[in-house]
Amino acid sequence: MKKRFGKTDFIVLLVILAVISLAGIFVVLNRENGETVVIFLQGDVYQEIPLTENREIEIQKEGVTVNVLNIRDGKADMTDADCPDKLCVHQKPISKSGETIVCLPNKIVVEVKGGQEGDFDSMAR
Ligand SMILES: [Zn+2]
Repeated sequence: MKKRFGKTDFIVLLVILAVISLAGIFVVLNRENGETVVIFLQGDVYQEIPLTENREIEIQKEGVTVNVLNIRDGKADMTDADCPDKLCVHQKPISKSGETIVCLPNKIVVEVKGGQEGDFDSMAR
């Protein structure tokens, strides 16, 4: 007797569909979110960190910690700074390609860069 489309085949099909849709979601998320955080100190690249790493970076100037950047759940947030205005600390966490946090008094710029930046640029133009 020839094997018919049974319950097991149906479950296998469901699993395959689930994997395909998950992969699709991942691609969409990857396109929207940046991949790395670049910290510029006085115009030079200070450090480049993947957004996937959960960690805290102390930005030092002449051996003194001036700003603290926290990377968590794909978002970069300035959690502490020694600048008088604290504008950078009050800025929202960044996660999308092209977003920045700027600390003018300390001349620090934190920028999110993504793999699909080219696409982003052509869309913006
Ligand atoms: Zn600041």
